[in-house]
Amino acid sequence: MRWCLFKCVTPPPPSVCVSGSFMAADSPLYLGLDFSTQQLKVVAIDGDLRVLHENSVHFDSELPDFRTQGGVHIHADRLTVTSPVLMWVKALDLLLDKMKGAGLDLSHVRAVSGSGQQHGSVFWRRGASETLKQLDPDQNLHQLLQRFTGNQIAKVHQNRAEEFQDTERISLVSSFAASLFLGCYAAIDHSDGSGMNLLDIRTRNWSQICLEATAPHMDRLLGAPLPSTSVLGPVSSYLVQRCGFSESCSVVAFTGDNPASLAGMKLQQGDVAVSLGTSDTVFLWIQQPRPALEGHIFCNPVDQQAYMALLCFKNGSLTRERIRNECSGGSWEIFSAALRDTPLGNDGHIGFYFDTMEITPPAVGVHRFDSADTEVSSLCPQVEVRALVEGQFLSRRLHAERLGYSIISGTRVMATGGASSNQEILQVLSDVFNAPVFTIDLSNSACLGSAYRALHGLVVESGVSFSDVLKKAPEPQLVATPHPAAKEVYDRMLKRYARLEERILQKT
Ligand code: ADP
Repeated sequence: MRWCLFKCVTPPPPSVCVSGSFMAADSPLYLGLDFSTQQLKVVAIDGDLRVLHENSVHFDSELPDFRTQGGVHIHADRLTVTSPVLMWVKALDLLLDKMKGAGLDLSHVRAVSGSGQQHGSVFWRRGASETLKQLDPDQNLHQLLQRFTGNQIAKVHQNRAEEFQDTERISLVSSFAASLFLGCYAAIDHSDGSGMNLLDIRTRNWSQICLEATAPHMDRLLGAPLPSTSVLGPVSSYLVQRCGFSESCSVVAFTGDNPASLAGMKLQQGDVAVSLGTSDTVFLWIQQPRPALEGHIFCNPVDQQAYMALLCFKNGSLTRERIRNECSGGSWEIFSAALRDTPLGNDGHIGFYFDTMEITPPAVGVHRFDSADTEVSSLCPQVEVRALVEGQFLSRRLHAERLGYSIISGTRVMATGGASSNQEILQVLSDVFNAPVFTIDLSNSACLGSAYRALHGLVVESGVSFSDVLKKAPEPQLVATPHPAAKEVYDRMLKRYARLEERILQKT
């Protein structure tokens, strides 16, 4: 059965009112898409980075024929997770339809970029390239989702030799999505490619040793990786004819959702983003990476000379809630007052609160120390609250610096997530990093980052940096500045924290 990719469309009106702001008939548009696990989202911005339109397709509820739960199929082994590739294609069809239905004139789109969930791979069957050129994709494309794409490809090669033999190309979710816009195979970009465990992030090329350890002919199957800022080509003639895109609309390389979020958070050199949710996550902009066994380092999606890193900490808000319940009667106000009423550096008390096995570092248990580095069994409630929050942020800083992050004079800390509503917690964050803290909204960052990247891709060749492009974006909100004594207190405390952490790890 042949499956038609995009529906016929009716001509759009000359100008529209979207998101409450009038769009001039000739206003250029830039699209950012996000192929996430549960839905496909889009944001359209204008040349002043104003969001003019947002839309989405929720897989489970809007495409029920695919019978996904949370956008995926979980296999009988409870380990293998796949998503039906045609569902993404159909979601794109529906999304373009919805955008046009809302009156968005796709002929104004100058560039498109996007992101896909990281670590997913798409195997294109032999002949798919021809089908793709005719934009009528084979419905039997096979897609497999697991962590780390290199290992995943090796598994397909070992367990499904015949299907592997019949594979013409292997894409990531991001480059697969870009292929749908290009009408031919899209290159894997350096940033998402870094998450495969196959790319040498310094030479920005495939590591031959890793390719050979994975499967034969990997060079050919993956194609050459390209900088994340590359213009891959114009949109397919199919999209021009069927959806009214302009022939000059460019497709800028798609990337992974985490790199796209870095762009959406408007992170710049020296910045760090700290998400204070159920788990805490730290995003870093790094100039000189020092890859370690902990954390993930990627080529930077918006600056070809730089890198980015991600660190995950399991003991985040749930641990803060436990200490709030035990030391502050369940009240964030009393918890905050304890932070206000205790001094920077906590008179030398340091605490480690790993209620569950931590990821960074791999340690467990609660460990409290007095100013002489002697382990103690308890702290008074107010001191315990500060020990927890200082300890968490010292850990975020220590592990960030181990990956090559360094605080520079213009460093900004971008805070997001539930606990970023707490002013006193943000003050400790500012003091420990000795940098101003700003709050940002992460909810649509991958989509928005893709739209910014689409715009940047068009001007990068003329030497315009990503931060130049962002000058028109609204400024984030400054919420805390460091205490004058913070640098001295926490530079010293960080060294003690590192020594004590080492001691705990030796005992674990
Ligand atoms: P998720 O990771 O699930 O998206 P959120 O980013 O929404 O989580 O954060 C939820 C957490 O925010 C809650 O677990 C709660 O501990 C924390 N939180 C909410 N309000 C406050 C506050 N005033 N002070 C500190 N933490 C808070």
